[in-house]
Order: sequence, then C-alpha cells, then structure tokens
Amino acid sequence: MYYNLGLVGYGVDRSFSPLIHTHFLANSNINGGYSVYSLADPVELPVLMHFLERFRLHGLNVTVPHKQAVLNSVQEADEQVRFLHAANTLHFTDRWHAYNTDIYGFSRMLDLNNIDVSGKSILIFGAGGGARAAAYVLAERGVKSFTVANRSKDKASEMTDIFSGMDINYYNYERLKVKESFDIVINASSADYSNKLWLEHFWADKSVILGGNMPEIAIDLQYGRSETPFLKLWDCSRKYDGFTMLVEQAAKSFEIWFGKMPVYYLDNLRRIAYTL
Ligand code: NDP
Repeated sequence: MYYNLGLVGYGVDRSFSPLIHTHFLANSNINGGYSVYSLADPVELPVLMHFLERFRLHGLNVTVPHKQAVLNSVQEADEQVRFLHAANTLHFTDRWHAYNTDIYGFSRMLDLNNIDVSGKSILIFGAGGGARAAAYVLAERGVKSFTVANRSKDKASEMTDIFSGMDINYYNYERLKVKESFDIVINASSADYSNKLWLEHFWADKSVILGGNMPEIAIDLQYGRSETPFLKLWDCSRKYDGFTMLVEQAAKSFEIWFGKMPVYYLDNLRRIAYTL
C-alpha cells in the first residue's frame, strides 16, 4: 500500500514539512510520499479537496491561510477544532476528518524548553490558527493575562470571543505603543518581520511599544535557518523559534494518519533541515 500525504498552503515552497514527513515514513517503514499544494485563494479549496479525494489522499496538513476556510470542506471535526474553529490536519477515510495538532506541538515546545507560563502575562501577535492553538495551551496552563495584537479586528474579535472566559484583550498595533510590559511575547502572525515597511510602521521604536521593558521569553512560531527577524527584535536571553513545534505537530499528525508515533530525534532533524 502506498500512502499519499500532503500540505496545502500559500508560500509553502520552502516548508520543512516534506522533509520531516519523509523522514518519519522512512523511519517507520511505511511506503508513501508527501507533496506540497500551493494555493493562494481559499475559495479554490473545495476543488482541490475533491481532486485529492479522487486520488485517495490519506492525510493532508493545512497551513496559512486555509486553517479556518478548510472547515467548510470537511465532514467531521474533533472537539478542539470545533472550539478553535481552526484545523491543521485532515485524515481522509471515506470522508474528511479535521484535527488540530498545533495544540500538541505548542504544548510540547513549552515542555521541551522548560517554559513555565503559569501566572505570566502574554502578548501574542496574530489571531489565526497558530495563535488560537497557542492560546488554548496557555489557557489550560493558567496564564495571568493574554493580549492579542492583530492586523484585522475581525479575526481578533473571533479569537477573544473564543477565549472570553479568561483575561484577554485585543490591541491593534497602534495601541500597543502605550502598553506596559509583558513576561512572554509570541509571534503567531505570518507577517514578514524582515519587511522594512512593516517594521517602520509598527516597530519604529520597540522601547516605546513595551514601555522599554524586555520580556523574559520570546517565542516565534516561524522558523528559519538562522535567528528569525521577530526573535532579533528582542534582547532577552530565552528565545525559541517554531522548529520544535513544527516537528512535534507533524509527529501528532503522523499518529492520526498511521495510529502510531514516528521515531525521530529532534536534533537530528534540525541538523538535516538546516544543512540542506
Ligand atoms: P493563519 O492564516 O491562520 O493566520 C495568519 C495570521 O497572520 C493572522 O492573524 C493574520 O492577520 C496575520 N497576518 C498575515 N499577514 C500579515 C501582515 N502582512 N501583517 C500583519 N499580520 C499579518 O495562519 P497560522 O496562524 O496558521 O500561521 C501564522 C504563522 O505561524 C505562520 O508564519 C505559520 O507558518 C506559523 N505557524 C507555525 C507553526 C509551527 O509548527 N512552527 C504552527 C502554526 C503556525 P489578519 O487577521 O489581519 O489577516
């Protein structure tokens, strides 16, 4: 049996997911392959999903900007997906089932790096699937307060509604300039932080933005071969990029597709990914 797996998203041409899943398949002696489907407009998702269904795709990862829109094309969604209204993993049997393994990925990233979030004040950039998964874990672990900074108010309002039971605020980027300090800053936005225009508009003076107080910890869900542009913005000693989360969420997807966790060593995978 040959298992077709894949990833749908936009700007995914340099994703590490094919490498990670090919590694998992080989280590588990499973015959299969992982393809990338680049799609800009969520309106075209149903057509692609129909095509993948015809070709008996077994598992699909979903990334920016389709994690919410994809829910219109699935027949079943687990409880976490229904709560967050965001999915990153689909499993096709005779129908599409949706899951959110970003929750597991973020949780593992905190554990593996000994990050204790209880009682902390958090600032998170972004309000999409990644931000919601992170918020789910942070809420479970008893953070003190939670501030969402997002470009569009719509998506941020949806997120603050989901987590209305906790101390959560929404700020647009302008209002952030007057906010006091945060213990942990998290980037869960797909904004390009190396984009000079974006930086000038929102980050002209980060000492003004956070009242001059550096956070203890900075976390970027984005990842790269060197320190990410978002992490470069912070002078704190504890900084973590999204590679660990990426591998861990992928491992959980694999478990959903094949009923067992893959064998892997994070440091090996990081070395392989960054030397390619
Ligand atoms: P979504 O498409 O669900 O959300 C994207 C978010 O980014 C939205 O809040 C959107 O704001 C914001 N955004 C997009 N472009 C801009 C811009 N130019 N300026 C400001 N804000 C912008 O994506 P995800 O939540 O899934 O992913 C977000 C990021 O996190 C991506 O870079 C992704 O790769 C990363 N990620 C990494 C994971 C990992 O395992 N390492 C897991 C999940 C995500 P708006 O509402 O205004 O559109």
